[in-house]
Amino acid sequence: MLQLQDPSLLETRAFIGGAWIARDTQIDVRNPVSGRVIAQVSDCAAADATLAIDLAYAAQPVWAALTAGERADFLRRWHDLVVQNADDLALILTAEMGKPLAEARSEILYGAGYIAWYAEEARRIYGEILPPHRSDMRLLVLRQPVGVVGAITPWNFPNAMIARKLAPALAAGCAVVAKPAAETPLSSLALGMLAMRAGLPAGVLSILPSTDAQGIGQEFCQNPKLRKISFTGSTNVGRILMAQAAGQIKKLSLELGGNAPFIVFDDADLDAAVQGCIQSKFRNAGQTCVCTNRIYVQDSIHDAFVNKLVTAVKKLRTGDVPDYEIGPLISEAAIAKVQAHVADACAKGAQLRCGGTRLEGQFFAPTVLTEMTGLMDMSSQESFGPLAAVFRFSTEKEVVAASNDTEFGLASYVYTKDMNRIWRMMEALEHGMVGVNTGLISTEVAPFGGIKQSGLGREGSRHGIEDYVDLKYACMRIDPQ
Ligand code: NAP
Repeated sequence: MLQLQDPSLLETRAFIGGAWIARDTQIDVRNPVSGRVIAQVSDCAAADATLAIDLAYAAQPVWAALTAGERADFLRRWHDLVVQNADDLALILTAEMGKPLAEARSEILYGAGYIAWYAEEARRIYGEILPPHRSDMRLLVLRQPVGVVGAITPWNFPNAMIARKLAPALAAGCAVVAKPAAETPLSSLALGMLAMRAGLPAGVLSILPSTDAQGIGQEFCQNPKLRKISFTGSTNVGRILMAQAAGQIKKLSLELGGNAPFIVFDDADLDAAVQGCIQSKFRNAGQTCVCTNRIYVQDSIHDAFVNKLVTAVKKLRTGDVPDYEIGPLISEAAIAKVQAHVADACAKGAQLRCGGTRLEGQFFAPTVLTEMTGLMDMSSQESFGPLAAVFRFSTEKEVVAASNDTEFGLASYVYTKDMNRIWRMMEALEHGMVGVNTGLISTEVAPFGGIKQSGLGREGSRHGIEDYVDLKYACMRIDPQ
C-alpha cells in the first residue's frame, strides 16, 4: 500500500459529472517496477461518456457565465491544492507509471505551472474592436468558449498532460470530459478530487478511466454536444480521431509523436552538449514526445563526443534499485520495440557502445549506438526508450536535410556557439520547437506543439487558450449623426 499523507487521494472510482461512481468492471493498475497490481479502478463504458457529455453540456453555459475572475479564483485554489499535495501526487504517479520519484515531483509542479498560468490567462481572453470599413458601421470580435471538450491523454505524463488540457479549457469557460490512459488513471482521478475540493461546480469535469479507448473516442467524435477534442498521444491514433471527427467537422487539438534531432556542431561546448543530450534523451527513460531520437554529431568532434556520452550513460543508475534515475519502460510492447530497434540497427551496421540489453523486470539498459544511417528504423520511427543513436554529419546543409527528413516535426535541438548559425538553424529546422544549447525546453510560458504530422494547436502560453475559444464577429450599423 502507498503511504500517503492523504489516503483519500487514491481514488479508484470514476468521476462523472461531479459524483464518484463505481463500476462493476475494474482496470488492474500495475506498478511497472514490481508488476504488482496497486489498485483496481472503475472501467467506464462508452455509455458513461454519453452521460458525462450530457452533464457537461448542461453545466457548461453556467460555468461560462461566471466572470473570468471567478474561474481564475477556482484555478488558483486548485493550483494551491495540487502544490500542497505534491508529495502524495508524486507517490501516486511513480507507483502507476514507474518514473523516479524526483521526476514525478517535477512533473506535478510542471503541471501545476499550467494551472497557475491559465488562472492568470483566464482574465485576458480579450475581444477586439476593429476600425470599420464604413463610417456607419462598428465591428467587434468576441472570443467565446468552444463548448464541451473531450480530452484524451497518454501514460507518459499522467499528471501534466491532463493538467495542460484542463487548465486552459476551464479558464476559457469550457466543460471537459477526460479519458486518461488505461495504464495510469490514478493521477488524473487525484487531480479530479482536488478540483472538486477547490470548488469546481458539478458537471463541469468528468474523468473516465476506461479500457474501451476506441468506444470512448468514437463517442467523443460522434456526439454533437461535444464540440472539440484535445488529444495527446501517438500520430496513428491522432489520424484515427481526425478521420472520425471529419463527420461533424469537429475542432481538434493534436499533440502527437516526434522524432527529434539533436545536432552537435564542432564549435559546441561538448560537456554541455553531453549533459543536454542525457537530459533530453534519457528523461522519463526516453519516453517523452520531445525526447531526442537522432543525435547528429559533426565529423571532427564525433569521437570525442561519443566517448564522453558513453562515459556519462554508463553512470546512469537503473534497474530495480530504490534510487534509480532511469525508470522501467511502461509495457512489454515498449520493451519489444526498443529491442527491435537495437537489433535492426546492429544488423545494418551500427556499433553497440553500451547497454542494448533488457534488465530485470521492465528495465532496459541505457544504450548508445553509433555509425547509425538513414536506412535504420530508428531514423524514421520514435523509439520511446533509452536508446541514444548517433549519426555522423559533415555540413550544415546535410544535417538540416537529414533533420527535416521525417514526417514528424515536434522538437529539435542544436548545440553551437556561432550566433549566425543559431539563427539559420532556428529558421531552417521544420520542427515546432527548437532548443538552442539546451536539452530542456518545456514550460507553461511557451507554446508547446508540433508541425507536420506531430500535430495541430499549442499547449501553454497565451496561444494555448486559442484552442478553446471561437471567434465571433459582430457587425453593427449605427446612425453616425
Ligand atoms: P496512444 O496509444 O496514442 O494512446 C494515447 C491515448 O489515446 C490513451 O489514452 C489511449 O487509451 C487512447 N487511445 C488509444 N486508441 C484510441 C482510439 N482508437 N480512440 C481514442 N483514443 C484512443 O499513445 P501512447 O503510446 O499511450 O503515448 C505515446 C505517444 O504519445 C508517443 O507517440 C508520444 O510521442 C506521444 N506524446 C505526444 C506528446 C505531445 O505533446 N506532442 C506528449 C506526450 C506523448 P489507452 O491507454 O486505453 O490505450
